[in-house]
Amino acid sequence: MPDGSSPRGRSRGRLVVVSNRVPKGDVPAGGLIYALDEALRGTGGSWIGADEPGGDTSGGLRDLGPDPTGAYQRFAFPLSHAEQEGYYLGYSNSVLWPLFHHRPDLVAVSEGDFDHYVAVNRRVARALRDRLEPDDMIWIHDYHFLMLAHELRQMGVENRIGLFLHIPFPGPTDAMALPQVAMLPAWLAAHDLLGLQTERDVIAALELLRHDPHTELLNNGMLSRQGRTFSVRRFPIGIDAEGFARTAEAGVLPRLTLPTRDSPLLLGVDRLDYSKGLVKRFDAFGTYLAEHRDPDVKPTYLQIAPVSRGDVVAYQDIREDLERTAGSINGAHSTLDWTPIRYVRSHVDRDRLAALYRRADVALVTPLADGMNLVAKEYVAAQDPDDPGVLILSHFAGAAEQMTEALLVNPYDEAGFAAAIDRALRMPAAERRARHAALREGVFRDDVGHWAETFLDRLAEAPASLPLRMRAG
Ligand code: UDP
Repeated sequence: MPDGSSPRGRSRGRLVVVSNRVPKGDVPAGGLIYALDEALRGTGGSWIGADEPGGDTSGGLRDLGPDPTGAYQRFAFPLSHAEQEGYYLGYSNSVLWPLFHHRPDLVAVSEGDFDHYVAVNRRVARALRDRLEPDDMIWIHDYHFLMLAHELRQMGVENRIGLFLHIPFPGPTDAMALPQVAMLPAWLAAHDLLGLQTERDVIAALELLRHDPHTELLNNGMLSRQGRTFSVRRFPIGIDAEGFARTAEAGVLPRLTLPTRDSPLLLGVDRLDYSKGLVKRFDAFGTYLAEHRDPDVKPTYLQIAPVSRGDVVAYQDIREDLERTAGSINGAHSTLDWTPIRYVRSHVDRDRLAALYRRADVALVTPLADGMNLVAKEYVAAQDPDDPGVLILSHFAGAAEQMTEALLVNPYDEAGFAAAIDRALRMPAAERRARHAALREGVFRDDVGHWAETFLDRLAEAPASLPLRMRAG
């Protein structure tokens, strides 16, 4: 719909998307990138994301050319090496990421990081302002740009602005570990619409705003802050379920050496991140092996965990912990023909991943905190409905709010988690099919297209609010 009309026929302006990553090649990779590409192909407009670090920060945006279908334009904003350190690895990933994932103990505040965060947000705001047309809707993504809308409002931009936060929202006590917590309500209130993954995130955000003396909850469920109205709502992100199911059916299964052709396979797929609960998962599998395993069954747990943010200390620690844990469990249980835990640190491409999901009897998706977790949805979409595998899902994944037919576990409860692994491996086919059918229906219905459409429809409907500069006097 390059004319900018929505799937429901209502007219919208062009869409301007801002996210940390912008696809530079031809094929959009990853869930979020795919979702935004889809949305922009529908509306036309532009997509702005970070350039490789080391560019000239005095210049404007670098034109990356149109997307392969010609539906929208792509631009990159420059980042110096110091900004990559301070804005990206520092404030975004060593302050905001741990804080929003309920780990204030891992927050590492370094002097100067916030200044880089402000500088980058301000530079992106300026570049955006210079390109905006009056009807453009701006859709900002994630914690790298929490103050971008506020900067835009300060510059007099009155366009509709939405922020979707892909990560959880911190509770008010955790939020206090943020040195800039006092600024947070003003940053949030600069949007017309703040989208979050789950109901509990919405409640946490409202709780924070309730403590702000300038924010008022209106009778219609909206909020008002210093003359500007805005709303906070839940938009659980989905996946391209149809596409993923097709890829899983056609995908080529990588060669796996398992004790026998029918040996059960348990699969975990996560970026190597402390929020994913990998050590607790390894421990629970170890307990399952020690206390539940039928001696005739030799299950293999394959964990794919590509390294991410390797320059941040907290990520180096988790790597060592995991290697030690896997080593000790394998040492206790391995035989000549069987290694219970297989741990792969390289990235696996989508085709092979989809085929692995389809082969896996059990998926272990057990983060300690996660905005949504797309792997849970991909696993369901990839299954053969006649002989599906079992999803073990942590209560702490955003996906658990929708995917209640999974085997829900508390990853901190090692014994309960180990018992769930046993139950999954023994689950009768009829129960597997019934649970999977219910999960599949939700994953296909609430897919990524539905997510983008509902967010943008809401944003388009946002009531016009008084611009900041009219209120100043
Ligand atoms: N992924 C992948 N190859 C890998 C590991 C992960 O393509 O080796 C993809 C996975 O299919 C999913 C995404 O990375 O689409 C991870 O998204 P998720 O929401 O589960 O977690 P995040 O990494 O965003 O915290």
